[in-house]
Amino acid sequence: MPANGHVVIVGGGLLGLEMAASLREIGVRITIIQRTSRFLNRQLDALGSQLLHEEMVDQDCDIYYDDEIQLFYGRSKLTGIGLKSGRKINCDAMILAVGTTPNMELAKACGLECRRGVLVNERLQTSDPNIYAIGEIAEFNGTLYGITAAAEQQAHVVAEYMNGDIASYYQGSLFMNIIKIHGFDLCSIGLPECPDDPAYEEVVFIDKAKRYYKKCIIHQDRLVGTILIGDKGEFQEFRDLIANKTELSEKRLQLLRSGSKAEPVLGKLVCSCNNVGSDNIFKKIEEGCHTLKDVCTGTGAGTGCGSCRPEVKRLLDEALGNFLAKAV
Ligand SMILES: Cc1cc2nc3c(=O)[nH]c(=O)nc-3n(C[C@H](O)[C@H](O)[C@H](O)COP(=O)(O)OP(=O)(O)OC[C@H]3O[C@@H](n4cnc5c(N)ncnc54)[C@H](O)[C@@H]3O)c2cc1C
Repeated sequence: MPANGHVVIVGGGLLGLEMAASLREIGVRITIIQRTSRFLNRQLDALGSQLLHEEMVDQDCDIYYDDEIQLFYGRSKLTGIGLKSGRKINCDAMILAVGTTPNMELAKACGLECRRGVLVNERLQTSDPNIYAIGEIAEFNGTLYGITAAAEQQAHVVAEYMNGDIASYYQGSLFMNIIKIHGFDLCSIGLPECPDDPAYEEVVFIDKAKRYYKKCIIHQDRLVGTILIGDKGEFQEFRDLIANKTELSEKRLQLLRSGSKAEPVLGKLVCSCNNVGSDNIFKKIEEGCHTLKDVCTGTGAGTGCGSCRPEVKRLLDEALGNFLAKAV
């Protein structure tokens, strides 16, 4: 591809948008084709999608909604694409970011019950109780989670059950989405929109000009969903409130008022979900957190998508190794 070439990204989900923002950072021209009428339509409400759209427009991305690729141009090399709407776009490359579909060939061949994924019960057993399914392929109560946190929780339940804990049940996982775009905070946890039911209430703060949006959805005095745009400092706190089904009582008044200043990133960025740097981690270890769990809880690193946990473990081992070396 020529320097400053043009890439078409098919799919305006988390990965497509993160890829778009990264390529914009190195000067690549970007066009995004999104099949529906807004971005992250399952993870955000309409206002959240609008703010995300504005961010991508500010990043100089061209965006086409309600459209799909129909044609490819070029003989030995891609030179352009044609959309269903009839528009032709010249480009040097294309990236498909349209999600994953479980490969169920093996499961179907051995007669396991499958729908969109391999069906599992609360013990993660398939229709054959001696065969378990977890992670990307497992469909639990009609849901395919597709996030690492869910895969890890499922693995934990199966491991405990196999280890003799017959009370180990899976009850579903919390949907969490964090976009990793440099300088733009956006996450959603649990329900993104209020169901059409008066028992659900919304607490909302919006500053459109500053692209700041905070929404909390409350049901029976418990937080059941949130969208945080412009500042995800409360991600960990809200995620715990939702996951633990904590009664809010007077905390409800603080939901919109906290705005506590997040600790600045120190050192090399390790966790982009919770903005934690290597020196934030070393600081916590020096303060006495000496297990992976304590370091993650103390700093927030590894508690979002979880993909940085091996790096956090490596930093912990390195720091503990240095302590030991000093002590000898
Ligand atoms: C680019 C990308 C970015 C992502 N980012 C995030 C994120 O930020 N946060 C998040 O929570 N989730 C993210 N996800 C989703 C996350 O990666 C998955 O939820 C997670 O990997 C699921 O784990 P898994 O073990 O079920 O499947 P996988 O990680 O897909 O592993 C399945 C493995 O099984 C192997 N395999 C397949 N068939 C067979 C067979 N017949 N025999 C033997 N081996 C086989 C495959 O080769 C593969 O190695 C991302 C996914 C992608 C693709």
